[in-house]
Amino acid sequence: MHRFHYQQGQLFCENVSLQSLAEKHGTPLYVYSKATVTDHFTRLDAALMGLDHLICYAVKANSNLSILATIARLGGGFDIVSAGELYRVIKAGGDAGKCTFAGVGKTRGEIEYALQQGIYCFNAESEAELVFINEVAGSLGKKAPVAVRVNPNVDAKTHAKITTGKSENKFGIDFDRIAEVYARIASDMPNLVIRGLQMHIGSQLTSVDPFVEAVRKVSPLVAEMKAQHGLEFFSIGGGIGINYRQCLDSGDASWWEQNSAEQHPLTIQKYAESVVPLLKPLGLRILCEPGRFMVGNAGALLTQVLYEKRGAAKVFKIVDAGMNDLIRPTLYEGWHQIVPLKQPAAGETELADIVGPICETGDYLAQNRDVAPVKAGEYIAAMSAGAYGFTMASNYNTRPMPAEILVDGDQAHIVRERQTLDDVLKGEHVV
Ligand SMILES: *Cc1c(COP(=O)(O)O)cnc(C)c1O
Repeated sequence: MHRFHYQQGQLFCENVSLQSLAEKHGTPLYVYSKATVTDHFTRLDAALMGLDHLICYAVKANSNLSILATIARLGGGFDIVSAGELYRVIKAGGDAGKCTFAGVGKTRGEIEYALQQGIYCFNAESEAELVFINEVAGSLGKKAPVAVRVNPNVDAKTHAKITTGKSENKFGIDFDRIAEVYARIASDMPNLVIRGLQMHIGSQLTSVDPFVEAVRKVSPLVAEMKAQHGLEFFSIGGGIGINYRQCLDSGDASWWEQNSAEQHPLTIQKYAESVVPLLKPLGLRILCEPGRFMVGNAGALLTQVLYEKRGAAKVFKIVDAGMNDLIRPTLYEGWHQIVPLKQPAAGETELADIVGPICETGDYLAQNRDVAPVKAGEYIAAMSAGAYGFTMASNYNTRPMPAEILVDGDQAHIVRERQTLDDVLKGEHVV
């Protein structure tokens, strides 16, 4: 369930009018639905019930402290990719002992911090990294729990920039070398403790087939490594795709599930039904690292139309949110549903480009889109902006980062204040 819907002619997030939030807090403004995050966590958790499992939310999708706290309270763990993300998890009340640390370029400082905090596991992406973690752990007199990330060379059939499980991607260690790498850890790296094996083949997968292919390919290796080295877990990564096309809830509780089969080829039921039976015989703890699935549909970016420009070729609606606020359309060809905060008359649309104020041709939220005929001064929302939205925002063009709001029922909490210009310039010096 995505808790965004029209009510009395206005777009609501749960029980809060988005128009009222835009007027009160200004735009651009990120708004998140706590109930949606909770619902997605709970449904995934239930779907994996047949397995000993731990959901490690991928913090990079949305790292706001209140989002992390929401997931921590539900019992979730976290997949982190930097010391900064671990710092956030701890500040949000999360358990370091439920954190896995991914990424190809961990530094000494990051490894030391993670060891001191007692994370669950380092997911290592190269032999050089394993050698280095062994050395750092030794120098601290600690043992580092590790898993090796396997690159299964499976095509996730997603956008090229979010494909991670092919041999030509920088991630993981080649499938054929994995057994040798574990043997080397066991014989030559006394400060490492083998804890698991991990993979992550890509993001925004809309078919279950690549997941099944990867699990089928890697499972025998997992069983073999378990027999030889006593693995505790197998992490199947994240990547569960979401529906970017149909982001509003009609108000009927069963609607989303009923429509999901055709609208959303990868439902959580289908995912679980396909992978759980393959994973169960391994007799291991299964880790899952969803980012986008947990928060993507839980967020919207609100923006105001500043001007309309009718060019020779196109109509442009110039809005106050730019690619510095939401970079997905230009970085990944990401598609966000654009809806007005005031419910439009049915059928009335206009072909337009929704563009930002940034001095870049790539600065757009939507191109050649049939949108409601919104006028200057009116507000629109880019839907499903809860994942890889704010976390990828920047100060490009010296634009302060937008505020973030977490809606919980009829309450709207400011969970990050809008930056001031002094915040943006902090730490700079004129010499
Ligand atoms: C980014 C990432 C994830 C999350 O991917 P989603 O597509 O957002 O689910 C999970 N695991 C690793 C290692 C990642 O880098």
